[in-house]
Amino acid sequence: MERFRADHHADTLTDVSLDLLASSGVRGIVVDLDNTVCAYHEPELAPGVAEWVAAARDRGFALVLVSNNFSERVASIGAKLGIPVVPNALKPLPFAFLRALKLLGTPRAATIVIGDQLFTDVLGGKLVGLRTLLTKPLVEKDFPLTRVLRFLERTIAGRT
Ligand SMILES: [Mg+2]
Repeated sequence: MERFRADHHADTLTDVSLDLLASSGVRGIVVDLDNTVCAYHEPELAPGVAEWVAAARDRGFALVLVSNNFSERVASIGAKLGIPVVPNALKPLPFAFLRALKLLGTPRAATIVIGDQLFTDVLGGKLVGLRTLLTKPLVEKDFPLTRVLRFLERTIAGRT
């Protein structure tokens, strides 16, 4: 069950302490898009996200957005934040995470995945040996499939 347990937790991306990441040796950050930096299907960044990303870039962290979404929205949000994107990621499969590592140029042990879903972000990150941080979803409005996965997340969380 270790693969279904995030290494760290935070309420939102903007609550993640850059000091803590830096002091624990993190240099690369893989960020999920939907419900982590934007509410699902919304074009607007959640409050504080642009500032958090800018602060992280200023401190020398490498960042990349990795999203299972494939719309133009992914590219435009990446451009807005000034970081590369890997759309159509098919998380938790490893391909997009491997591509992200190449873009970041950081070793796996110094790379963390931050996202709101256990079955895509956390499991996918763990499968390629990355650290993981699970946030709460920005909003609870999701795909029907995501709703099923969230039910399973709660069931597993209740058992561990
Ligand atoms: Mg998400």
